[in-house]
Amino acid sequence: MVVTYIIFNNPISLYDLIDQKKVSGFYVVWPQIRIFVEPIYSFIFYALTLNRNFYKPVIISWILWLVSVVIMYSLLSKQAVTKALYNIFYSLMLFLTLISFVALVPVPGPKLIKPQNYIAVDIHSHTLTSHDNVAPADISLKAHIWQGYDVFFNTEHNHSNGYVKFPNEFKYKVVYPGMQMQTKDKISVLILSSKEFYGADYKNLSLEDIIKKAHNNGMIVIMPHWWKWHIKTFSELKDLGIDGFEIYNCGYRNFSSSQRSELIKFCIDNGLPMFGVTDWHGWGYMADVWTVLEGDLSYNIEEQLAKRPKTKIILYRQEQSGSVFRFVFEPFYTFYYYVKNVELKYFVSFITWTLIIFLIVVSKFFNYIKNYFPLVMALLYSFTAIYFYNIVKNVDSNTIVVKSVIPALIAFCLIWFVLWRLNDTNKSQKYKS
Ligand SMILES: [Zn+2]
Repeated sequence: MVVTYIIFNNPISLYDLIDQKKVSGFYVVWPQIRIFVEPIYSFIFYALTLNRNFYKPVIISWILWLVSVVIMYSLLSKQAVTKALYNIFYSLMLFLTLISFVALVPVPGPKLIKPQNYIAVDIHSHTLTSHDNVAPADISLKAHIWQGYDVFFNTEHNHSNGYVKFPNEFKYKVVYPGMQMQTKDKISVLILSSKEFYGADYKNLSLEDIIKKAHNNGMIVIMPHWWKWHIKTFSELKDLGIDGFEIYNCGYRNFSSSQRSELIKFCIDNGLPMFGVTDWHGWGYMADVWTVLEGDLSYNIEEQLAKRPKTKIILYRQEQSGSVFRFVFEPFYTFYYYVKNVELKYFVSFITWTLIIFLIVVSKFFNYIKNYFPLVMALLYSFTAIYFYNIVKNVDSNTIVVKSVIPALIAFCLIWFVLWRLNDTNKSQKYKS
C-alpha cells in the first residue's frame, strides 16, 4: 500500500472548468471528522462523485468481485453449501448497506475556501417538496453552508412551494426563490428570482413563453444540463433569450468534453454566464463543484446574476476513465484513484484502519461482533425509518421517501433481523450436534 502511494500519489488541485487552468487563492478543507473515519469517508466521496452513467457497471463489478471472493473463501475453508450461501447473502447485504449509508448519512464533503471578494453560488438545488428528494429545507441549508456556498437558489420541480419551508432569517441572504420548470418543449429551465412568486403561473408554457414571462417579472432563466436532452441549439436558446447555461451538474456529469468546450466557447463569445451546480436532491452531502463570481453579498444575488457576470467554475475533480478495463477491475481502480489523490495524513489514517480491522478479524472478539452486527443494523434501519417517517408525515405522500425510501429501510431492517436469527439458529444447532 505504501509503495502504491509513493508511485502514484499526485493530489488534485482545484481548477477552473472554463479555462482548464489551476486557480490560486482557492482551496478545500475537509471536516475534522474525516481523519477518524477515513475508509468510509473516502468511499463515500468516491461513490458520490461518480458519473451517473458509471453507477451500473461499477455496482455490477463490485458485486461480482465480492461474490467471487466469498465463494473462494468458502471453497478454501471447505464450508457447507448452506453456510456458503449464507456468507454470500451476508456480504451482499453488507455492500448494499454501505451503499445506503453513502446515500443517506449526512457526512459533509470538502468545503471551498476562497478569497474575500468572491461569492460561491449554487443556482440549482431541491428539497423534500420535490418528489425525488429526501432532505428537508433546514438540511439543504446546512449542506450548502458545509460545502462553502454563500448563497443558493431553491429550485423545486414545477412548483415554488419549497421556499416557504426555509427559516425567515436566511431568506434573501443565503437562500433565494427559484424553480425548475418543465416546458412544453420537453425540457426544463431554471427560473431564478429575487422575490417569491407563484410557480403554477409558469405551467404548460413553451420555452419561449416562459422566458418572456420570467423576464417581464424581473427574473432570469438558465438552461440546466442541456446535455440531458440535446434539444435546441445554443444559438436558438440564446435567440429565445436564455440568460446563461449550466456547464457542470453533479447529478448529470456525463457531458462530453468536446461538447462542453463548444458550449463554453459559445457562452464566452455571447457574454452568457456559465454555472456548475449541485442539483442537490439530498442523496449524499458531497459536491465537487463551486460557481464563484466577484460580487457583494450585501446586494441581491439574482440582480447580480442578471448583469451576466463572469464566473469561475471551480472543480475538485480529476477526469475519470470510462473504459471497459476500468470497470472490469473497478475495486482496484477505486484504490488506484484513491491513492493517486489522497493527502498523506488521510492515507496514514487509512492504513491504520486497515491494521485495526485486520487485528479485529483475527481476534477472538470477531465472532462476537459478527453475531451481533446484524442486530445492530436491524435497529439502526428501524431508527432511520422512523426518522424519515417523521420528516415526511406532513408532506405530500407522492414522494420518493414515502414510495421507496421508507419501504426499503423497513426491508433492510427485516433482512438484517432474519440474518441475525439465522445465525443464532446455526449456532444453537452446532452446539446440539
Ligand atoms: Zn434539478
